[in-house]
Amino acid sequence: MGVEKFDVVILGGGNAGIGVTGPVRRAGMSVAMIESHDLGGTCPNRGCTPKKVLVAAGQALHEIERAAVHHIAVGKPKLDWSALIDRKKEMIKDIPANLARSMAHRDVEVIKGHGYFVSPNTIGVADRKLAAAHIVIATGSKPRPLAISGAEHLITSDEMLRDRDLPKSVIFVGGGVISMEFAHVYARAGAQVMILEALPQLLPAMDADAIARIQAESERIGIRVKTGVRVERIEPASDRLRVIFSHKGAEYTAEADRVVNGAGRVANIEMLDLEAGNVEHANGRVVVDRYLRSNSNPQVYVCGDAVPISPQLSPIATYEGDIVGRNIVDGAKYSPDYDGMATSVYTVPALASVGLTEAAANERGIRVKIHCNDMHDWFSARTYAETVAWSKIIVDQGSDRILGAHFVGHAGQELVNIMGLAMRFGITAAQIKDYVYAYPTFSSDIKHML
Ligand SMILES: Cc1cc2nc3c(=O)[nH]c(=O)nc-3n(C[C@H](O)[C@H](O)[C@H](O)COP(=O)(O)OP(=O)(O)OC[C@H]3O[C@@H](n4cnc5c(N)ncnc54)[C@H](O)[C@@H]3O)c2cc1C
Repeated sequence: MGVEKFDVVILGGGNAGIGVTGPVRRAGMSVAMIESHDLGGTCPNRGCTPKKVLVAAGQALHEIERAAVHHIAVGKPKLDWSALIDRKKEMIKDIPANLARSMAHRDVEVIKGHGYFVSPNTIGVADRKLAAAHIVIATGSKPRPLAISGAEHLITSDEMLRDRDLPKSVIFVGGGVISMEFAHVYARAGAQVMILEALPQLLPAMDADAIARIQAESERIGIRVKTGVRVERIEPASDRLRVIFSHKGAEYTAEADRVVNGAGRVANIEMLDLEAGNVEHANGRVVVDRYLRSNSNPQVYVCGDAVPISPQLSPIATYEGDIVGRNIVDGAKYSPDYDGMATSVYTVPALASVGLTEAAANERGIRVKIHCNDMHDWFSARTYAETVAWSKIIVDQGSDRILGAHFVGHAGQELVNIMGLAMRFGITAAQIKDYVYAYPTFSSDIKHML
């Protein structure tokens, strides 16, 4: 087969790749998108969306646990795990087909297969060769490989989302977002859960006081958390797995049905033959400039989880895809701005965060006002029998602008967006307090939080 020509070839049909298609198709460019698995990528098929179905069940179990506060008598709940996994499967089953229709509607040619560089401007897929003026790497991320003896026994979020048997016990190696979220679901479903984290703090990038709150809540529901540990090896132990780990010089063992790689995710760029594409990379990262363009090959852009430096979140992947699309159309002139982008860890209750932590603000020497509130005895928290309700809002003393906000419980996963909006559009703390909120809502408490 001869070489086919496109204006744009996109490797990967996840949030980032799909984000690219809007601007370039609006400009009338011809586009091929190569996807090796399911259109939609991780978020709707193996990430955010299916996970949230399990988290919602965890939330329901949490509400049932608190029913007595509202004088509702309920028996001990029994979760049918295999039926829950089936519900999750049912809810997401149409997503790839719907996206295929939407890509066809946009006149994007979707090609099934694994794409790789053949030359700086040509991509190979199956028996086809596609030459393009612009190539986009939007190949997402994969679990970080762990150099531990017995690492082949580790499972990942993919298996956790598929497994129709509820394990009796689970050990997470690494205390990142995925570990925390699944740990809460499993613990509420009745499994014994342990998290082993190498660093002194779970979720090390997040505000230390917020982590103390969510760790306490995790322990309250029975999750065992060990920080500052080194996992030495994993080995089979009859029909279970044994994890050998050390802490302050002493060696310990723990056993569980499943051991999960919860050590974060890295860019998925290994199998692209970047050398053939003249795409410079180091330590598993494509080297990019401020326009998300390869340093060595200006025809190549990178977006989404494959970008080495931005948070691995689905709205950010879509945002970066759009920026790359616009840079392709208008010439490299747009840079991402991650200020005011909120994130949530979907434990139950959630831990939500935007902007600077208190430690980061101090490190930068900014004069800040810290508004920290334990709200568990506030009327709204008591009304809903919240087990934890906590907030910290960091305000710049000079400009009165919000620099960061962190919540545990109290609908923080919603409130954090108000704070992100304020940060992005320069709404001051005084203006936030001046707004008349619907009452009684968790948002109406923001006035008092400030
Ligand atoms: C369990 C889990 C839960 C998550 N929960 C959340 C959440 O609640 N909120 C949130 O914001 N984010 C969440 N994320 C992160 C979110 O899913 C990612 O940030 C987002 O999906 C990244 O989009 P992307 O397009 O960069 O990559 P992906 O969605 O991974 O898409 C990349 C695509 O490229 C394809 N591909 C790879 N290599 C090739 C190749 N050589 N040729 C052709 N195709 C290829 C892959 O098959 C994949 O479909 C979660 C992730 C996981 C794993």
